[in-house]
Amino acid sequence: MNDFRDELAKRDLGDTFRRLIASTGPISLAHFMGESNQRYYADKRPIGGQGGDFITAPEVSQMFGELIGLWMADMWIRAGRTEPVHYVELGPGKGTLAGDALRAMKRYGLVPKVHLVETSRRMRDAQIKAVPEAVYHHDLSRIPTAGPILLVANEFLDALPVRQLVMTEEGWREVMVDVDPSGAFVEVPGRQHMDSAVPEARRDAPPGTVIETSPASATIMFEVAGRLKEQDGAALFIDYGYADGRSGSTIQAVSGHKKVGIFDAPGEVDLSAHVDFAQMEQIALSRGARVLGTVTQGQWLGALGIAQRADALAEFAPQHREALMRAKERLTAPDQMGELFKVLGLVAPGWPDGPGFARE
Ligand code: SAH
Repeated sequence: MNDFRDELAKRDLGDTFRRLIASTGPISLAHFMGESNQRYYADKRPIGGQGGDFITAPEVSQMFGELIGLWMADMWIRAGRTEPVHYVELGPGKGTLAGDALRAMKRYGLVPKVHLVETSRRMRDAQIKAVPEAVYHHDLSRIPTAGPILLVANEFLDALPVRQLVMTEEGWREVMVDVDPSGAFVEVPGRQHMDSAVPEARRDAPPGTVIETSPASATIMFEVAGRLKEQDGAALFIDYGYADGRSGSTIQAVSGHKKVGIFDAPGEVDLSAHVDFAQMEQIALSRGARVLGTVTQGQWLGALGIAQRADALAEFAPQHREALMRAKERLTAPDQMGELFKVLGLVAPGWPDGPGFARE
């Protein structure tokens, strides 16, 4: 079985797509993105400064994971310290956030069971070093249903495949991927009528208008919100995206910290899309979870006291003061990660408000 998988993994994904398209016709953009990212996370070492493709907040500074851990401990304590309690992380990357968050929680007497949801075997190998006590899951369905969950997902939803619909002269169509005579991938409108997939209020749009949705993210929100309602707990989704509904394509590709074309090298580069937080909130509400709100990462980390935390760490290790201040800036400044990145907070109906989400 493994030999077979390894053999498959060696094949060029672009060639696999070309053969598929030649025999059955264009594939959907969602199919292209889903398979490309599955291959990418299975084969590559995406996260890191040198040699990586992108850097994420937990890799910038331990303060990020620690403040998330403190937020969770505070919620759990005020909600009544129910046991058993489960720390759940979706797409944990190198396991850094989990390690930092769990260490911070422990200081407050919170020692949860640890569940990591990760599909990439290669990523699991890295995570198990940071969090040896973790239990792995392929998806959310096998997470225990007794006891509250404290769930976090950082830069996870953006990696899930998006579907795009485009308005053409003939009406709404799904965006598909075809191959041109030179062998390059190109976007083409699908043949099937898709008008009924577009909300009535948005149907009358000029040709070229694109609506992007993420059915996979919607499914995750549906499941997480349902669990908060049923078994209590709190959840944080952190990602880049927009808090107000917007239309247009946001899919992008990154390699070696630079933007590249989304069709350049399937499975070799990171594909991601902005998260539509307004839609995520609606889904969570519809399932009976309480939405604390969506705020910028800068505002959230500021409210949780990142400045004081940086000062305290610098006091303890003066030789790192400059690096700590730079990391704080990187995480919170509006022209860095502070504004584009958002934090969505959800809690069970009976749970208290969480710090950082006060509406102005
Ligand atoms: N949260 C980490 C990593 C972000 S990268 C950080 O902040 O550093 C995205 C992560 O999600 C990777 O670990 C990747 O392997 C995982 N992933 C991508 N698609 C997934 C899926 N469908 N199910 C579970 N994990 C997935």
